[in-house]
Amino acid sequence: MRLIELTGNQVAGKFLDNCVSKKNMLPQMYLFSGSRYSGKEFFAIQFFKALNCESKEDGFCGICRSCKSIDNLSSSDMLLVYSFLDVLKFESYLNDYLLKPEKIKENRIKKEIYRLMIYLTQNADKKKELDEIYQVIYEDFYKNDINPDKAEKLKIYLNELKKIKNKIPIEYLREVLEKVYISSYELKYKLLLIKDIGDLSPEASNMMLKTIEEPPKDLIVIGIAENLSGILPTIRSRSVKVRFKPYHKEEKKKIQSDYGVSLDHLLESNKLSHDFDSMDAKELSAHIDELKQSLHFFSFLDREKTVYLNTLKSGLLYYNLSPAHVREALRIFKKRYCPKAK
Ligand SMILES: [Zn+2]
Repeated sequence: MRLIELTGNQVAGKFLDNCVSKKNMLPQMYLFSGSRYSGKEFFAIQFFKALNCESKEDGFCGICRSCKSIDNLSSSDMLLVYSFLDVLKFESYLNDYLLKPEKIKENRIKKEIYRLMIYLTQNADKKKELDEIYQVIYEDFYKNDINPDKAEKLKIYLNELKKIKNKIPIEYLREVLEKVYISSYELKYKLLLIKDIGDLSPEASNMMLKTIEEPPKDLIVIGIAENLSGILPTIRSRSVKVRFKPYHKEEKKKIQSDYGVSLDHLLESNKLSHDFDSMDAKELSAHIDELKQSLHFFSFLDREKTVYLNTLKSGLLYYNLSPAHVREALRIFKKRYCPKAK
């Protein structure tokens, strides 16, 4: 499949198809901009598939090893940077610990607290609400041991942090940028995808700039932003800019029929939960794939969630996890993570 054949954003699709076909002169830095839910992340992933596909020259097959590992976000050649990537991971560690408190899990939480402290140190002086959280985290959690009561309390603070529009911590970016120089391992190209690239601080932007001024040969960088205004002009001028338009009604309908459920639909009623009551293991596994596609579409591209859905699927197919268990897990997943799509 070529990108122009995808629903919506034909101009962007055609442009990216052209990039794929001129592999010797392939631009390495892209800025994908457009409003929320306009398919930026989705196109980024499809574009990356087309660049790496093992069986198609001018598009992607969707079934080869490369296409599959990209779809599952499981390739180590994909570096995904988010404004605040760690909250969900941190939260899952806390939940895991609360379920069964063990020393080894405490250490993991301590490590996350440390990362959080670094983040807050970077940002606290700029925002009063972060400053307050910093004080509490430092006094109550960083200096002392963890126990279940504290883990519960930490969850409350993480919820507060979720509400704040965050910057990408520079230490985190540095860590990721180091990996850029390790040549790609499974795929032809390596992808550095930065969501909310406008959230990089000037210092972090300059660090990025060094990478894109002399990128490793196999690196593709895609910055995602709603608009280009917050992005360093020197990054902007070095990037190929691709504009995305919101899907209109007909296109949303088409997406729904092509990829199964839409997020509107997921929340609209209990119809779906009722529907999958009657699904067998095979149908449930297909449903999980549809759900993953929907998540990509509505800009909730997220390794954690994809990994979770993959785990459910493999549990179902290979480890005798009961369909009833998977149904329940999916119900909880949808309730928590599938926000109302506009
Ligand atoms: Zn392929």
